[in-house]
Amino acid sequence: MRITIFGTGYVGLVTGACLAEVGNDVLCLDVDAGKLARLEAGDIPIFEPGLAPLVRENRQAGRLAFSGDAARGVAHAEVIFIAVGTPPDEDGSADLSHVLAVARSIGAHLTRPVVVVNKSTVPVGTADRVRKAIAAELATRGVVVAFEVVSNPEFLKEGDAVNDCLRPDRIVIGSDSEHAVAQLRRLYAPFNRNHERIVVMDVRSAELTKYAANAMLATKISFMNEMANIAERVGADIEQVRRGIGSDPRIGYHFIYAGAGYGGSCFPKDVNALDRTAREHGYRPRLLEAVEAVNAAQKGRVHELMRGHFGSLRGRRFALWGLAFKPNTDDMREAASRTLLERLWADGALVRAWDPEALAETRRIYGERDDLVLCTDPWSALEGTDALVVMTEWKAFRSPDFARIRSALSEPVIFDGRNMYEPQVVEEAGLAYYGIGRGRSV
Ligand code: NAD
Repeated sequence: MRITIFGTGYVGLVTGACLAEVGNDVLCLDVDAGKLARLEAGDIPIFEPGLAPLVRENRQAGRLAFSGDAARGVAHAEVIFIAVGTPPDEDGSADLSHVLAVARSIGAHLTRPVVVVNKSTVPVGTADRVRKAIAAELATRGVVVAFEVVSNPEFLKEGDAVNDCLRPDRIVIGSDSEHAVAQLRRLYAPFNRNHERIVVMDVRSAELTKYAANAMLATKISFMNEMANIAERVGADIEQVRRGIGSDPRIGYHFIYAGAGYGGSCFPKDVNALDRTAREHGYRPRLLEAVEAVNAAQKGRVHELMRGHFGSLRGRRFALWGLAFKPNTDDMREAASRTLLERLWADGALVRAWDPEALAETRRIYGERDDLVLCTDPWSALEGTDALVVMTEWKAFRSPDFARIRSALSEPVIFDGRNMYEPQVVEEAGLAYYGIGRGRSV
């Protein structure tokens, strides 16, 4: 099929590459000329495992191309995807300006029937607004062209996005048009071969499904952080509690890790946006409020532990391992590491930081500063520092040489914001240990 995708970010680029991989003719559009220039030059602007070879091979095969030309994009497609950002507006609701700008562009250039598929995470009712925006442009041009608007929320995870896209656990299609559903069933058939993954529903339910999924996952994290805070005060270890509850299949082991709070481009903004939607419809979502409040407090937890240990942090030097909001990505949107960095700097501390993928992003966000040194490996980050803080659970951090860490630090102490280490193992190596909810209250 001939596919056009508006937006070449995490969702658009991965979707484009995966649809090209199964034989479609894909054109990816963006308004960011810098991003397009990098993509044209064969450079991938984001880090996502497996994405670079997929993009390279499909470009070479002539199935994947990039453009900034909306008219060309609309003329190219039988199916048009909208995969642009929906960042939080000032009041926490989703900013739909990019989505509606794409809708207007489609209406401005459409000359033959098309199915418009919205993959961006958008509040309930957005498909109607997209439909109206396209129709208004067509009316202005005085032309009549058939089109349908479908909701097809995206569930890929950054860090495993290519795998999620090639092997999705479900494909939600929200539409009441038999023709549009048939078209998407055909498009997704290569990803739906060994068992049925497609769930067809009405548009509004599909739009809400995405928010419900992210709100549920965020709730699990905040719930475990709440338990961790109780565990800390009563002298229990949340890691043992986690294993104890996860063994119940109704609860399960997934997504029940306590830590320094959730970040990223989705959970914070989507929980907030769902909260706004509920209020706009006259309902106060008390559970969502609590999920957000617990997370906001949790993002300050490692800093509290550090203050508790050291007292004043002025003039202290810290090694920080992990800047990305989670492993296998360079994304630092709403990362807990940023809350920590900013609090440490406000306290007058210096940070020597290391991350396998997010150093360039850190430099882009914070620029050159006297109180931040970006290091080229984990060991140089430790040089001349008082303590080590771990904020992202990269695999490479799982089993470090604790004796070497101890000898590098002036105060042998590790603050483990992701509960990566066994306190006893760290302590046997001669280091003090602080984790999240591990029976130590300060
Ligand atoms: P992103 O910020 O990485 O990329 C969005 C891209 O859209 C940018 O390159 C931007 O330049 C481009 N863009 C903006 N306006 C445009 C226009 N008018 N025409 C063409 N391109 C335009 O965003 P993302 O992380 O890929 O997220 C996209 C959407 O998918 C959001 O709604 C997000 O909530 C949702 N989502 C994201 C993830 C994720 O893990 N990142 C997962 C599921 C769903």
